Amino acid sequence: MTSTDNPRERSRRMEPPVSPASAPFWEATKERRLLVQWCLDCDKSVFYPREICPGCLGTNLDWREASGDGTLYSFTVNHLSPDPTGAEGPFAIALVELTEGPRMMTNVVGLPLDELEVGMELRVTWDELADGRHYPMFEPRGGPK
Ligand code: ZN
Repeated sequence: MTSTDNPRERSRRMEPPVSPASAPFWEATKERRLLVQWCLDCDKSVFYPREICPGCLGTNLDWREASGDGTLYSFTVNHLSPDPTGAEGPFAIALVELTEGPRMMTNVVGLPLDELEVGMELRVTWDELADGRHYPMFEPRGGPK
């Protein structure tokens, strides 16, 4: 039994709904794999997952595995409850720009909030949800501080 088999130790995060377009993304998170939808017509990333490319209106969309690396594009610190990361105290809501291009709304964890800095290098880490999926969050690329 791993620690995450104990429901009390799992995330208190609300389970994000799955749409037909986002199902492959969420399925991959069960294996802690970060996928980015890709438009084969204009060769650009598409995020969030959808049925039609917002750049060229093409429907020839596929999936690519992302490196998991990104940089902090923007952030704010929420001092109000509830805390979706399950941690006590304030938490960071961030826009992280993936190396592959898209910007994800997520959380940054693993460092004191006063050390958050736009442009800092981050890598994906995962918050296990009760249904076996994982929510992608980000931490400093060198590991938690
Ligand atoms: Zn396109």
